[in-house]
Amino acid sequence: MRLVLVGPPGAGKGTQAQFVASNLSIPKISTGDIFRANVSGGTELGKLAKEYMDRGDLVPDEVTIAMVRDRLAEKDAQDGFLLDGFPRNVPQAEILKKILAEFGAGLDLVLELVVDDEEVVRRLAGRRTCSQCGRIWHVDFDDKKDDVCDACNGKLYQRDDDKEETVRHRLEVYQEQTAPLVSFYADEGILVGVDATGPVEEVTRRAMEALSPYAG
Ligand SMILES: [Zn+2]
Repeated sequence: MRLVLVGPPGAGKGTQAQFVASNLSIPKISTGDIFRANVSGGTELGKLAKEYMDRGDLVPDEVTIAMVRDRLAEKDAQDGFLLDGFPRNVPQAEILKKILAEFGAGLDLVLELVVDDEEVVRRLAGRRTCSQCGRIWHVDFDDKKDDVCDACNGKLYQRDDDKEETVRHRLEVYQEQTAPLVSFYADEGILVGVDATGPVEEVTRRAMEALSPYAG
């Protein structure tokens, strides 16, 4: 099965990508992994990407796309894969369609993790990081009443990334880019939404249930 996973920050996308891919016995292909593999493997694309990153610049789309194409051409991806982190927008979705067409294939399904904005804010803005050991606690889920790490007694703080206004901004950016992507796949008739609230195992179970009519 050829799958794409989309979902807002804080939806637990990385975790679900791993569980769903392993349940379906297909490789999980994330752009982060592809990047690291190319850079540490010293490929031409990796060297190119590293030049941009070392300068503090964004790696251009063409480089990312070329890396994704190389990865999808590998043997283990021929019978299926789960893409995480690509495509991010409609132009990339169009390119993915072309790449797969070259291989005589197409996407089977796009799984959208659906989480309410307020739930994302609650999940992310409730995180507190230990300034000493780096461990992350949650004010609600860990019932954290003080600003002290239970593991090392270090002082807890809220990372800038986890501040409510930052989280809301990331959600806005996500909506801007991803709403059109979701409509694009809905128009293609391959979009399936999965409620991503509740325990991790429950979300995986729902995702597998949503996929079952299409699997095999
Ligand atoms: Zn600590």
